[in-house]
Amino acid sequence: MNASPLTSSSAARAPRIVRAQQMTAEAPHVPVVIVGAGACGLTASVRLRDAGIDCVLLERDSTASGSTALSSGFIPAAGTRLQKSLGIEDSAELFAKDIQAKAHGDAAPHLVQAYSHAVAEAIDSLEAHGIVFEVLDGFLYPGHGVRRMHALPERTGAALMARLESTASALGADVLGESVVRELWMNADDRVLGVGYQRPDGSMEHLACDVLILACNGFGGNPDMVRELLPEMGQALFSGHVGNDGSAIVWGRALGARLADLGGYQGHGSWVTPQGALMSWAVMMEGAVQINTQGRRFHDETQGYSEAAVHVLAQPGGVAFNVFDAPLLAMARTFPDFAEAEGAGALKLASNAQALADLIGCDLATLQQTLADIRPGATDALGRRFKRSLNAPYYAVKVTGALFHTQGGLDIDAQCRVLKTDGTALPNLLAAGGAARGVSGNAVWGYLSGNGLLSAVGGGWVAAGTAAAQVASA
Ligand SMILES: Cc1cc2nc3c(=O)[nH]c(=O)nc-3n(C[C@H](O)[C@H](O)[C@H](O)COP(=O)(O)OP(=O)(O)OC[C@H]3O[C@@H](n4cnc5c(N)ncnc54)[C@H](O)[C@@H]3O)c2cc1C
Repeated sequence: MNASPLTSSSAARAPRIVRAQQMTAEAPHVPVVIVGAGACGLTASVRLRDAGIDCVLLERDSTASGSTALSSGFIPAAGTRLQKSLGIEDSAELFAKDIQAKAHGDAAPHLVQAYSHAVAEAIDSLEAHGIVFEVLDGFLYPGHGVRRMHALPERTGAALMARLESTASALGADVLGESVVRELWMNADDRVLGVGYQRPDGSMEHLACDVLILACNGFGGNPDMVRELLPEMGQALFSGHVGNDGSAIVWGRALGARLADLGGYQGHGSWVTPQGALMSWAVMMEGAVQINTQGRRFHDETQGYSEAAVHVLAQPGGVAFNVFDAPLLAMARTFPDFAEAEGAGALKLASNAQALADLIGCDLATLQQTLADIRPGATDALGRRFKRSLNAPYYAVKVTGALFHTQGGLDIDAQCRVLKTDGTALPNLLAAGGAARGVSGNAVWGYLSGNGLLSAVGGGWVAAGTAAAQVASA
């Protein structure tokens, strides 16, 4: 992970609010400052530059990566040009229905509405700028009624970040690395005047702006905040970007901003251990199962990978084995993350049930019963309906539950304006992506696959539209 040395430096300053009537005289001015150059910040910068508005992205790392580069880079979007060209019938309304069904109706309705429309516009625009997307084929992620996962041919978040950054740079957006934003300068009317950011030598520099967009993700990289706000993940591995240290929450608290959905997050129940890589849940959806060290299944895997993190962590040793067979192995190998884990020795072969029991370290009779219960057509005791049984030889990968990113944060309206505790909007402070509340409600099970990049890409798009309107009227 590419965290700036400033993160752990004793010279690091805490995020704070500076109250002032004006910015320091030497501070240069730019219409829009964006804190964080992940998917959210970069998408926002593309829309701003298309509108002819100058913007600077301040990024703590020397090379922007964020959680976006660690992700698979799969962005759900409905009604895109690409879907239409493939004959996939979809709409923002269907997408919104799927989001709310997963969150049991608990996802912020104004954001579901705004993001489910905005993300398609964003994908169409990025495509028009030359970013080539594919719609993933061959399986559906849990909770999605149609094929709508847009991914780069490489199927990695690193490739997505590289394309977003080159597109933004080509359009004239400035990404200033090694710049950790520590201070939001605000006047007495709660207007943002600009920011103070720390450079690698510890010095502070300042930038004045008309509008500020917080695109600095959530608090998954801040263990104290995770223990405070997400106790059930207090001991879990964090697989996201360690630079996501909860700065937006610290600023929000100091400002009297409202926080929302802090109990929402993306977990993942398929984090390969000890190698530390993601094994795609697509394999689970097509028939793989999770078996604990006692030889038993323990949940309906098709409900989703996010809540699976909690189920896996509750098993003996906090681990489970993803068990599958040859056709599913072929599918798994189409995912670069899996190939990486396999290369690191994570994949184990068991020629029969006895070998699988030895591998897992469980009782043979129990395991044989578990395997026998995987029967096509029948709904099992855990509520899962199988399409097929698993046939020897078996393959197994040891996994644990991990925290991928937090979904709660600053409360925002449908224009991504940050709201105060009294519900009024701060005049020129916007937030999106992981810095703001998402569309997953207030619990782990509300996370529909792709809600992270939906909030980042859709939210970045919306925030940029709001910023452009505010700059025009300034
Ligand atoms: C292993 C993994 C797989 C995932 N796969 C998917 C997927 O396939 N689909 C999906 O939708 N979601 C996925 N996610 C979640 C997804 O990665 C995030 O939701 C998304 O990347 C958030 O984008 P962002 O722009 O808000 O944050 P980020 O990409 O994390 O960008 C935030 C940036 O802000 C910078 N920053 C933070 N604080 C400061 C500061 N004070 N000053 C300056 N810069 C700062 C950080 O360095 C970072 O570069 C995955 C996550 C993980 C960990």
